[in-house]
Amino acid sequence: MADSARAKQENSITESPHASPLSGRKRAQQSPGSRSRYSVSAPGHCFRKVTLTKPTFCHNCSDFIWGIIGFICEVCNFMCHEKCLKTVRTVCSCMAPTLVRVPVAHCFGPAGPKKKFCCVCRKHLEGNASVRCEVCELHAHSDCAMFTCGDCRVCHQDGNQDIDKFLHHWREGNIPPGSRCEVCRHTCGSSDVLVGMRCEWCGVTTHAACYVAVSPECALGRLRNMLLPPMCVRVCSRNFSKMHCYRISERCQNELDNSDEVDAQIPAPVKEGQLATTPDSGKQVLKVFDGDDAVKRNNFRLVSIPRLTKKEEVVQESALRAFYIPDDPMDFELQCNGQPCLRSEDILNRNGSLNEKAVFKENVSEVWLLRSKPQDTEVLKIYSGWLKVTAPFVLISVSRNSTVDSVIKEVLSQLGRKDDEPSGFNLMEVFMGSKQIQRQVLTGQELLLDKLQEIRKISLRQMNQTRFYVVESRNRAVQVNLLLEGLPVQQTKEEYVDLLQEHLAIKSHVVTISHVYGSQGAVALEISCFSEAERIYMLAKDTSVNNKQLVSLIIPEIMHKKFPKCGSPLLVFVNPKSGGLKGLELLHSFRKLLNPHQVFDMSNGGPLPGLHMFRDVLHFRVLVCGGDGTVGWVLGVLEAIRHKLACPEPPIGIVPLGTGNDLSRVLRWGAGYSGEDPHHILLSVEEAEEVQMDRWTILLDAQEITEDGKENCLEPPKIVQMNNYFGLGIDAELSLDFHHAREEEPGKFNSRFHNKGVYLKAGLQKLSHTRNLHRDLKLQVDKQDVELPSIEGLIFLNIPSWGSGADLWGSEGDSRFEKPRMDDGLLEVVGVTGVVHMGQVQSGMRSGIRLAQGNYVRITATKPLPVQVDGEPWIQAPGHMVISAAGPKMRMLRKSKHKQKKPSTSLKEGRSESPSSSDGGP
Ligand SMILES: [Zn+2]
Ligand SMILES: [Zn+2]
Ligand SMILES: [Zn+2]
Ligand SMILES: [Zn+2]
Ligand SMILES: [Zn+2]
Ligand SMILES: [Zn+2]
Repeated sequence: MADSARAKQENSITESPHASPLSGRKRAQQSPGSRSRYSVSAPGHCFRKVTLTKPTFCHNCSDFIWGIIGFICEVCNFMCHEKCLKTVRTVCSCMAPTLVRVPVAHCFGPAGPKKKFCCVCRKHLEGNASVRCEVCELHAHSDCAMFTCGDCRVCHQDGNQDIDKFLHHWREGNIPPGSRCEVCRHTCGSSDVLVGMRCEWCGVTTHAACYVAVSPECALGRLRNMLLPPMCVRVCSRNFSKMHCYRISERCQNELDNSDEVDAQIPAPVKEGQLATTPDSGKQVLKVFDGDDAVKRNNFRLVSIPRLTKKEEVVQESALRAFYIPDDPMDFELQCNGQPCLRSEDILNRNGSLNEKAVFKENVSEVWLLRSKPQDTEVLKIYSGWLKVTAPFVLISVSRNSTVDSVIKEVLSQLGRKDDEPSGFNLMEVFMGSKQIQRQVLTGQELLLDKLQEIRKISLRQMNQTRFYVVESRNRAVQVNLLLEGLPVQQTKEEYVDLLQEHLAIKSHVVTISHVYGSQGAVALEISCFSEAERIYMLAKDTSVNNKQLVSLIIPEIMHKKFPKCGSPLLVFVNPKSGGLKGLELLHSFRKLLNPHQVFDMSNGGPLPGLHMFRDVLHFRVLVCGGDGTVGWVLGVLEAIRHKLACPEPPIGIVPLGTGNDLSRVLRWGAGYSGEDPHHILLSVEEAEEVQMDRWTILLDAQEITEDGKENCLEPPKIVQMNNYFGLGIDAELSLDFHHAREEEPGKFNSRFHNKGVYLKAGLQKLSHTRNLHRDLKLQVDKQDVELPSIEGLIFLNIPSWGSGADLWGSEGDSRFEKPRMDDGLLEVVGVTGVVHMGQVQSGMRSGIRLAQGNYVRITATKPLPVQVDGEPWIQAPGHMVISAAGPKMRMLRKSKHKQKKPSTSLKEGRSESPSSSDGGP
């Protein structure tokens, strides 16, 4: 029942003769003459019969169009069978603004490498002049982007609206070719044209003609248990852009800003060729602007019409189409710029009747302005979406002296709320631009018709994307949460307040520090004033304290009490620096598959923002996409702040990026990311099993031991965390390539090991002759002295994979030692005799020399040594090193065995997999 009712409602909206935002104007489709006579059930299109000269697919049913006859919309290039005309449900691009349920801006970034289609003109995206939304499946040419409207996913509540019912969010096209239709079970995807519909949340796919038959409520699909439900997230964002709310880094934004300029400039040169050829083609080209704003930005459309066009209407209609405006051409006129009073009749006079070598030829580069004619009355759609009444909008007739106040009164009476005091409501103008939603409350005495004319004068396109809402005018409490990072560590709350006063001049009556993360040099702020929040946010990005750049992030509020019981949202960290392009694509995919609020780019503030945002969530899991160092970074921050989390031990899964990835191998996530479907990755995270892992701390106490036995402090002692292994000597020396490592993951270095010790270059030079490790080291395991054989490298293993998948301990049984596990509280101590031995271990021919097993290790070094922790090397000054167990074990996620798709074939893979499958498990 609900289904059909919903479908009916949708149809009645889209089929209503008042579907255009400016419904009072006659719709162009109905105007006599020039427009299409093929009647279709979806509004806005202007179908024309065409002869097909190349293989073509139907946008309605996704099938091939056999024969040579097709029907194409002259506005949006929608192509279909004759038989499909009757069932077209896809509205034309010019009508897209009418379908917006909740206006939400997109986050445009540069388009990816895959073949996609433009949602505005439906053509293939070629070259670089195209954009895609970072959080939904919207793709468009750069110069089509401004015609998309703000219909992105609703990922949170922003205090203006409450989501009580969650509905599918349909997006047309760019779905995988093999997709099946939920309704009729036939294939609905294609890689040849823009076809099919897909829900941005649950992933259900259907034909364009079938989607209205799907029940409108969305259950969020297969990933619902790990998805952060939009109704559980709140952000007071106002003027913060979506980019800022989703913490999408400036990288994308810069390119976006550039693309604005591209918008304005590209059309001219590209189409210059077209201009040159027009005299011979029987066509003439007009350079048309849709308002003062476009003139200012020199942002025009070229409109090509037959040269001897006599009908004014045709000229205007072509111009309207170029701007995707669906209204009646009779309501508009073309003016020649510089002669603002020139009426469109002049065009006709110059064009048609007298001289047949048309005047247009010379006027091609002239600037034409498309204007709407003033009206005495109009019928306006007023939306009531936020009032929670059944009708999405009411139609109000507006005349010369209608004021905002009188319109509000009329709306309330039509909605049956006569008794409400009109002064409790506002009329809000909402511009649903593709990049930003602008809301503006209109003042009570404002004349509405003047207002409309004013918007149209600025931009007719903008008018087409503008709506009016009646909203309750009560003031809502403002609370913006910001996280500031990069402050000096280990300060008191008062000291942080002073620092913020000094550097950001915060207004203390509207700003409070809600959380202090002293170990991370970070504070969370609660700000009860928008402009102050915006000021602090922007200023902090430009401020350095003690030569360290501050990082400021908007932190959404999670209303964890609204969570469904079984929900365990996934907190995703991606370090794009460890995976290059693959990392960026993963970041993009996870933002689209999940709620973008739960996906964190680690190059923008590290792991703290995510953990802070999830602090009150009772159950959550973490997915880290990066190298071993990135995993260590997340584990380290988690360790430091876990006492502030409601879920202090979230289980952690890994997507290995870059190289190495020993921990990831042991946990069966693989040796590296080779482009596996991100959706499959998420499913395997859901099915993964939990295992425990020991963690270790290494105390490095550098002291020079002088000849008379006195100890001389060289540098302050430091503590580092170790997850995988700790190596001294040859293995660290081989991986010691600071520059390379820094380039790969600079952020990791900054945060994990601040101080690399005093010996850097000098140390390296000294090293060449100090490889007799057994002479330079004393080793104690569990308080027992361990006699060292002649070795060049000493390694302490926590996990059974070392140096990119090698099994250093070996698999043979040994009565002296326990079988190694990653959760037994024991470290394995192994020696290697030199480079040759290491190579043999790497290739699986030999294992290392087993020396000891224990949980407390003390090393005394008499010379500077290369050391490495989890693959990160440095030179350590002589002195003591103590390894001991660190806090509680970590809960890690191990990929389920039965889900593993490809059995490992290579020897190396096989080795690294086999010990892990028998070890570490419960
Ligand atoms: Zn169309
Ligand atoms: Zn068809
Ligand atoms: Zn396009
Ligand atoms: Zn979007
Ligand atoms: Zn859905
Ligand atoms: Zn279907």
